[in-house]
Amino acid sequence: MKKISLLGATGSIGIQTLDIIREHPGEFILSAMSIGKNIELARKIIGEFQPELVSVQNHSDFHTLKAEFPHTNFTYGDEGIIEAATFEKADILVNAVLGSVGLNPTLQAIEVGKTIAIANKETLVTAGHLVMEAARKNNVSLLPVDSEHSAIFQCLQGENEKNIERLILTASGGSFRDRSRSELEQVTVEEALHHPNWSMGAKITIDSATMMNKGLEVIEAHWLFDLPYNKIDVLLHKESIIHSMVEFHDTSIKAQLGTPDMRVPIQYALTYPDRIPLPSGNRLNLAQLGQLHFQEMDLNRFRCLKFAYEAGRAGGTMPTVLNAANEIAVAAFLEGRVTFLQIEDLVEKALDNHRTIEYPSLSTIQEVDKETRQYVQSLL
Ligand code: NDP
Ligand code: MG
Repeated sequence: MKKISLLGATGSIGIQTLDIIREHPGEFILSAMSIGKNIELARKIIGEFQPELVSVQNHSDFHTLKAEFPHTNFTYGDEGIIEAATFEKADILVNAVLGSVGLNPTLQAIEVGKTIAIANKETLVTAGHLVMEAARKNNVSLLPVDSEHSAIFQCLQGENEKNIERLILTASGGSFRDRSRSELEQVTVEEALHHPNWSMGAKITIDSATMMNKGLEVIEAHWLFDLPYNKIDVLLHKESIIHSMVEFHDTSIKAQLGTPDMRVPIQYALTYPDRIPLPSGNRLNLAQLGQLHFQEMDLNRFRCLKFAYEAGRAGGTMPTVLNAANEIAVAAFLEGRVTFLQIEDLVEKALDNHRTIEYPSLSTIQEVDKETRQYVQSLL
């Protein structure tokens, strides 16, 4: 029985992780979890899964839930999420929290030697060097949950990483794949939230539409697989059936395929190196599908992807700025305060405004993250 601590239990990845736990009662048990502000859903989860420890974002919610569930341990705030991340009895941490708030809990969990299934890509983007260094030092495995990185990880099983020629991340193109830049000027939040293939949280759905998601994933892949940016390519593949590929020196390419279902990569991270059935999963029928499509990625059409490559190559604190500016810009778009195309303008301004600091410490990263958020807010 694997004991799981789940950060972001009320989110899209969190809920799908709970689906897997529910589907395999003999395999997994929810020991600890964190949520943000959705205490209504938290009530249902606590009632069903009865975790020992629950962390909430706000102090007032902490008191409310504590009164309702006297047999559960509650905690809250920045310290609370770290307590959940490092919960002693848990064998594995699933980090499915949103944004760079996931960084500190990840680092703390690494320090106490937890295996980490990482969905929270912003953590790797904002401080990949610190996370990977800490993981190496503490001999901790970081198992990818993001479907592209899980695909690459699966393709690399039994391979020598020295033989990799390049990674090919596939991109669906998001909600606005077939629209020209001029058509993007007037798009609404509702249209942007309608992803053709995947059902995900709001922020990552917008990131998919701007292609920033793929940019963050390029940086995530750089850290997870320790490869330079010229060995990480992106290919438009509208069906989201091939989740990513690895090309080797001998020109051979391995790919991982499946219907778009995040529960597959989540479950693989939980059972790795084993696999178990996913009874509710949809099997892929290639004959029925008939064909798959691929197209070169246009970096002028998808400027956020270009910014991400540039920030990644600049290194140091530049990816921290990219991520923080994007988090604020996307939140502003979701609140109707800026237009869709202004997201990339805000990110570009933040990057132009920053001079990268090499080998930043955790406190430098936190400082730059905060400054960038303030700078972008001041532009709104
Ligand atoms: P959601 O927005 O659906 O969920 C985010 C979760 O984090 C919720 O539980 C939310 O709590 C919690 N949360 C948000 N802000 C805070 C905060 N400041 N403090 C504490 N908790 C907080 O996001 P997703 O599930 O879509 O994504 C989670 C992560 O996984 C992201 O990094 C994303 O990039 C990555 N990812 C997601 C995929 C997907 O299919 N959704 C695919 C691949 C990667 P509450 O709702 O209670 O406020
Ligand atoms: Mg992905």
